[in-house]
Amino acid sequence: MELTPMMQQYLATKEQHPEAILFFRLGDFYEMFFDDARIVSKELSLTLTSRNGNTDKAPMCGVPYHAAEGYINKLVSRGYKVAIAEQIGDPKAKGLTKREIIKVITPGTVLSESALKDSANNYIALVYEREDQIILAGADISTGECFYGIYGGGSREQMLYDELYRLAMPELLVVGKPSFMASLKEFTDLRLPATSYTMIEEISPAVEDRIIEHFAADVRPSDEGAKEAVATLLDYLHDTVMTDLTHLNQLSFLDASENLVIDTYTLRNLEITRNLRDGGKKDTLLDVLDFTNTAMGSRLLKKWLEYPLLNILPINQRLDAVEELTKDFALRGGLREACKDIHDFERLLTRIEVGTANARDLIALKISLMSLPAIKNKMASVEANVLMNCQTNIHVFDDLVDLLQRSIVEEPGISLRDGGIIKDGYNADLDEYRRIAHDSKSMLQEIEEREKEATGIKSLKIGYNKVFGYYIEVRHSGADLVPDRYIRKQTLANAERYITEELKEFETKILGAQEKIVSIEYNLFTEVREVIKSRLTEIQGTAHEIAIVDVLTSLAEAAVAYNYVRPRMANNGEIDIKDGRHPLVERILTRDLFVPNDTKLNHSSCEIMLITGPNMAGKSTYMRQTALLTLMAQIGSFIPAREATISPVDRIFTRIGASDDLVSGQSTFMVEMNEVAQILKYATKNSLVILDEIGRGTSTFDGMSIARAVIEHIEQKIHAKTLFATHYHELTDLEDDIVKNYCVAVKERGTQVAFLRRIVPGAADKSYGIHVARLAGLPKSVTKRAEDILAELESEAAAAVPAEENVRPVEQAPASMDMMGSLFANSLSDKLLALDVMTMTPLEAMNELY
Ligand code: ADP
Repeated sequence: MELTPMMQQYLATKEQHPEAILFFRLGDFYEMFFDDARIVSKELSLTLTSRNGNTDKAPMCGVPYHAAEGYINKLVSRGYKVAIAEQIGDPKAKGLTKREIIKVITPGTVLSESALKDSANNYIALVYEREDQIILAGADISTGECFYGIYGGGSREQMLYDELYRLAMPELLVVGKPSFMASLKEFTDLRLPATSYTMIEEISPAVEDRIIEHFAADVRPSDEGAKEAVATLLDYLHDTVMTDLTHLNQLSFLDASENLVIDTYTLRNLEITRNLRDGGKKDTLLDVLDFTNTAMGSRLLKKWLEYPLLNILPINQRLDAVEELTKDFALRGGLREACKDIHDFERLLTRIEVGTANARDLIALKISLMSLPAIKNKMASVEANVLMNCQTNIHVFDDLVDLLQRSIVEEPGISLRDGGIIKDGYNADLDEYRRIAHDSKSMLQEIEEREKEATGIKSLKIGYNKVFGYYIEVRHSGADLVPDRYIRKQTLANAERYITEELKEFETKILGAQEKIVSIEYNLFTEVREVIKSRLTEIQGTAHEIAIVDVLTSLAEAAVAYNYVRPRMANNGEIDIKDGRHPLVERILTRDLFVPNDTKLNHSSCEIMLITGPNMAGKSTYMRQTALLTLMAQIGSFIPAREATISPVDRIFTRIGASDDLVSGQSTFMVEMNEVAQILKYATKNSLVILDEIGRGTSTFDGMSIARAVIEHIEQKIHAKTLFATHYHELTDLEDDIVKNYCVAVKERGTQVAFLRRIVPGAADKSYGIHVARLAGLPKSVTKRAEDILAELESEAAAAVPAEENVRPVEQAPASMDMMGSLFANSLSDKLLALDVMTMTPLEAMNELY
């Protein structure tokens, strides 16, 4: 097959990045060919055409270059990589125009403003296994952040997965074939939020150089593997973004020992930063606490929530700051107001760094920089340590503000190639050309008037178009009066267009000036941009401090708005919450309706709260509340309670909810048992464990036995602070020094039952399933009949007392279960007893009763 030179060029270019869809610039379009064209036409609903490649027709589709960004973003958001090949050099020059790939856009490296969410980081992560360690390196090139984590020991894989889930990166790179993953496919099976997975064959050499180039000595990793991983990630980024990445200069170590670890299930279940419904922010803890006024602040708050602290000292430092801000109304209000003018510094800076910032970005930067002195001044007499540090580290940039003030017009256009971005008076040359261009307008008018008079043609006017330049237009009605010196150029339906010698000369001059203006403006603009770029690190530092101020102010605002109190942080293992409230549920119910509850968990007594009570009584709300309040305290937030003492926990584990994992294809029970297994494996005495109705995915006796064995294990081996909700009343006889019974208070009047939502000491004696069934709208006849059956069963059960004792010893579970099985065989009542009313839908219950 013989190809045209252009197609040859295309194929050669495509070969450089075969994994990416090639956007090949042809004049005003980006064209895609072959398979790329097929994919793109399908993904973006574009028409597939073909181009004659001499002997063979190549499938092709294209998008106009000025509209390409939207198309590219769409492809990238679906996990594709897009390589952009631009025309290099003069397109009018003879022969084939040179074309080169200038960048590859991938889900983890996209920088287009419209593709990035303000309130979330856009991470790319790399996983590398070296000897018995797993190393994770990550970056957000839109904000300039870089980090690494090192995981060893038995739980290394789990720690990695939890981290990956938290980062929610759209793009994941994997070096070689890690021993713990048979293939890339297994990563995709983890249901991470990533859309793009790439295998990197080899780790990068020349490690030291890469790292030294980017990072200050005090943050460089000492671990060989970490160095290699970070270097490899940087190499990938360089090969992809193809511009300067010096703004990637902050490197941090994800130190699991400094943070409260929240595993993936818990992060999901407690809806801390993403809701269960659609993974969005609505109805999450983040949503409630987010009063931030900057994009950087909202990203940082999210991070604080995903990485709560472990040590009391830094927690108290944050709490001091929040307290000061809650008390000082003027300071808080002033800071919030000033923050409103601060644009997304971090991402602005990145665009300046990679050279895509336009004049509007610089204006946004100017406005942001202009708010800094106000913030610094307002904070002049702050007392909390953290705030004082911020005050010191926020720099003001009067010189840059001055430069931007003098140089860039207040409302510039988007394009840098149309002029109109530099202010008058900033540059003498520019002013001179502008004067020429300006004068020429009146000169043009002069010519028009003169020609009208000379020829006597009333309809004569001067116009301009791209093809002929300036012309004189005369209606056909005036054609007789046109003098010889007019040169005809174009005939329209009702007019003729001419040029003259004078007009041509004029045109050269004025167009020259226009061109000059645009190019001078462009150069001046890039000069200004370079000046700012030279101060990048300094501005970045300030941006980070602003984010901290914004988050602390936001926490203070939430505390005031929702009546939160400062938790007392302790180190004795005690959690003692008085009148705690669920931060989300109370927002939905309005506070008056929400019933506050106490929680008291301690190392020495009551390590385990065993909470029995009917469905819908408020058990899981209560347990989540305890976890959320502990977590909030550990990010340095005030909490919804009357007063509280909190000892930081090292991990929060939850096993809550039954239906949310159906998508994964595993049975609910299997998922549940997996989660419980993780908890028993990794929980320590400093962990907080929340178990809601475990064991209900299997038969009653199975479930009860498992529940009991789990409690015993935690009680004897782990000693984690545990909240355990169950509807197996039989478990309440586990009560001892460590396990304490609690239940939800219920008020009964006749057949009317009200759940008081109040957690009180003691065991529930009834399950009120029939009451809930009534609430759910089961027909009266059915609930009435159910009550009768229940009464019958209860009297029978009372007669069969020995069975009760057999429930206890779990060590002999299989035998005792058999025994129980035979005890209950055959009668109708036994069948009913075996039903798990709690997990049945009203319809199933009805069918069963029928
Ligand atoms: P359970 O886990 O016992 O089945 P939930 O915790 O799911 O019950 O609570 C059921 C409903 O009761 C919740 O949707 C919530 O609206 C309400 N609720 C729970 N706790 C409280 C409370 N302390 N005050 C007011 N309403 C509550």
